[in-house]
Amino acid sequence: MANPGDFAYTLKQQADIVRIVGEYVTLRKAGAQNFIGLCPFHQEKTPSMSVHASRQFFHCFGCGASGDVFNFVQKVENITFPEAMRLIAEKLKIPMPKMSFSSPEEERQAGMRVGLIEIHERACKFFQEQLRKPEAAHAREYLSSRGITPEIIAEFRMGYAPESGFLLRDALRGQYTEELLRESGLFSWKDKGDENADQKAALYSKFRNRVMFPITNETGKVIAFTGRTLATDEKSGPKYLNSPETPIYSKSRVLFNLDKAKDAIRKLEYAVLVEGQMDCISVYTAGFRNVIASSGTAFTELQARLLGRFSKNVVVNFDPDTAGAAAAERSLALLVSEDFQVKVLTLEAGFDPDLYIRRKGGAAYGEALSHSQKYFDYLIERARAQFPVRTPEGKVKALDYLLPHIQRVPSRIVRDELANEISHRLGIESAVLRQELRHAARSRSSSRVSPAGGAVLADAERVLVRALASRELARSPVSNRDGQDLDFEPARQAHFALTRERLHEGTVAEPLIDALLLAQEQGLDPMSLPLEETNRNLLAAVLMDEPEELTPELLENSIRSLRRRVFRRQLEDLQHQLKEAERRQDPASAARLLQERIKLRRAMTAMGESA
Ligand SMILES: [Zn+2]
Repeated sequence: MANPGDFAYTLKQQADIVRIVGEYVTLRKAGAQNFIGLCPFHQEKTPSMSVHASRQFFHCFGCGASGDVFNFVQKVENITFPEAMRLIAEKLKIPMPKMSFSSPEEERQAGMRVGLIEIHERACKFFQEQLRKPEAAHAREYLSSRGITPEIIAEFRMGYAPESGFLLRDALRGQYTEELLRESGLFSWKDKGDENADQKAALYSKFRNRVMFPITNETGKVIAFTGRTLATDEKSGPKYLNSPETPIYSKSRVLFNLDKAKDAIRKLEYAVLVEGQMDCISVYTAGFRNVIASSGTAFTELQARLLGRFSKNVVVNFDPDTAGAAAAERSLALLVSEDFQVKVLTLEAGFDPDLYIRRKGGAAYGEALSHSQKYFDYLIERARAQFPVRTPEGKVKALDYLLPHIQRVPSRIVRDELANEISHRLGIESAVLRQELRHAARSRSSSRVSPAGGAVLADAERVLVRALASRELARSPVSNRDGQDLDFEPARQAHFALTRERLHEGTVAEPLIDALLLAQEQGLDPMSLPLEETNRNLLAAVLMDEPEELTPELLENSIRSLRRRVFRRQLEDLQHQLKEAERRQDPASAARLLQERIKLRRAMTAMGESA
């Protein structure tokens, strides 16, 4: 997609893939040129995604996700190629030329998302302005009664949706199409069943007389709102009203406050997870910047992956004993099965984080936070509190309560440890119960992704793959360091030897090498080849691990090694045919084969191979 001379190519040259991937994934250096991190595209505990700095590509050895900086951004943001380009250009502050799309539908979709983001930004400013007006006095009163200062209002861009349903519509109408306004989720309308009726008059604000909290995506763009009603009568709808799902907003993919919290989560290496947005805002403004909210519903797998990109440690601050018990329970279960290290912060009964901080202050909350308990310690305590574990029946009940939780833990070693811990803490001496516990702990039906394994390349094959893929690098001025052989063109030399002698025939790397040869002939970037997954894995594995510098000697030795391999195979073949000829009592063939064998042995001796 990125060809020399076009904008995408220029952009790719300037976009450091390590920096850009690093904004989404915590990367650490694993070699001279490569970095590794947890893959955002599948669930994992140990990093299997590598990013190569000079070759500017990424590859996950777990799920096979692979490509350049555009592919990464497209996939992680779930956007089209032109949108990924725009996003990267924005990050680099490079002005964009006009976008081109692969289909009119793609253009329409992308245009719609851009429009919806704009509308939300406009709406957010509109609500902010409204909050400053005299008519919004009651909204400001409500906020200050919740301990929310003007600074917090500004930081979270809180606003006020006026009683009139038409002000926002009128502010936006004229610049955006009717269709786009309907798609935004900010308006309601009454279908008149008559297409010719004055439809514009039918649009009115969904949010009226509410305090507005913008919901932002990971990059800080407003994509939805939550409105808290200020009306006291029942007719005004639910207390909290959320934007519906739209092309830019999917509840299950968003974590409230992640854009503000992500740096702190990375730095502190843990996140605090609370239930509500108000809780989140309170905790954040009390100085705990690594806080996010799940916004009342149970945590989803997508949210867990999103959070997992920043840290796998989380302190959960919602009480599973309260009204939202089922949702809280599901969230905790999900986090455990997604391999998070979970701790639980239990505040005194009747306190949510917001109330706790307002009554006792931030320092007290920090103190409570530092005493949060490991999730399983917390569960064991709950089991002991609920069941009389002194009696055998009580022990059985406590076990029944704990077992499903243990079985969610992905690691068998950890499950075993937990089983021991529980036996000990519940005072289980019965061999039968211990046995049952151990058995249950072991039998977890696992659906983990197993890393694509299998094919292993010989050293010589690895060197040739490196040589063939080196085209781009050889051309860049970076490799023209002092003392380096400027005439050394590994790709060309490897290409010459391999096409002339087909030395790679029958090797594991054959299909990959053939693809690389073809790419070279057609002047394609080896990293952009449409390879099968096995071959892509092989290529990435080779390029991510380049133990020694590619020198003319190394290349020459590798070619020789492959050549010897070919000779040895030919020799074996001859021996076999010779035996056959002797068995058939065919002296003419035998004599010819013997001659061939002598020639071959001579060639091998000349190469220094004892035959
Ligand atoms: Zn992956």
